[in-house]
Amino acid sequence: MKLLLVEDEAKTGDYVRQGLMESGFVVDHARTGLDGHHLALTGSYDLIILDVMLPDVDGWRIVQALRDAKSSTPVLFLTARDSVEDRVKGLELGADDYLVKPFAFSELLARVRTLLRRGNIPVSQDQLQVADLVLDIPRRRAHRQNTRINLTNKEFALLELLVRRQGEVLPRSLIASQVWDMNFDSDTNVIDVAIRRLRAKIDDDYEPKLIHTVRGMGYMLDVANPE
Ligand code: CA
Repeated sequence: MKLLLVEDEAKTGDYVRQGLMESGFVVDHARTGLDGHHLALTGSYDLIILDVMLPDVDGWRIVQALRDAKSSTPVLFLTARDSVEDRVKGLELGADDYLVKPFAFSELLARVRTLLRRGNIPVSQDQLQVADLVLDIPRRRAHRQNTRINLTNKEFALLELLVRRQGEVLPRSLIASQVWDMNFDSDTNVIDVAIRRLRAKIDDDYEPKLIHTVRGMGYMLDVANPE
């Protein structure tokens, strides 16, 4: 799951980003409204966390631009203003929920998970399964043949993407955009290395093999080998 966080205050931004990453999300962090506006409209995110008070383009303008562009990406507002008018304005413009600062990270995480469950993407099931591979999404756990497989956050995110798109060939560029953040250097072979490590954990000791290389195109996960 990839999230966009738009927050200009360094302390809050770093704290939220860190917490989300530790919870298994991939996070792009925009530190200005302008960057946030650009990423929100051009990137592909499962959810956007948007600070209202930004020095350049404010959060309201960003959500308005998103909804004008017919994007239905869920938006969670962060606001220091606890006035009813501000909350109503945010929701009227198309935000899905709001959180008043200061907030506990656990509350933010609960709101994020609720919005993702409610979202238009079929992300809602708590468990995903392909053959005997089972992913427990809220707990970030993977099992094969009922054996727990220890994965890093990155490996889990990669596997989750492959499982959600079962049977589709995923080009490296798509994998990079969904599993790595915007600072990722796409010229490196990081994805191939990550896939190799994931295979060693998921496939080496088990049948059927689930992760397949589609020559010249990318990777796919399926019960049957495409080649
Ligand atoms: Ca702010």
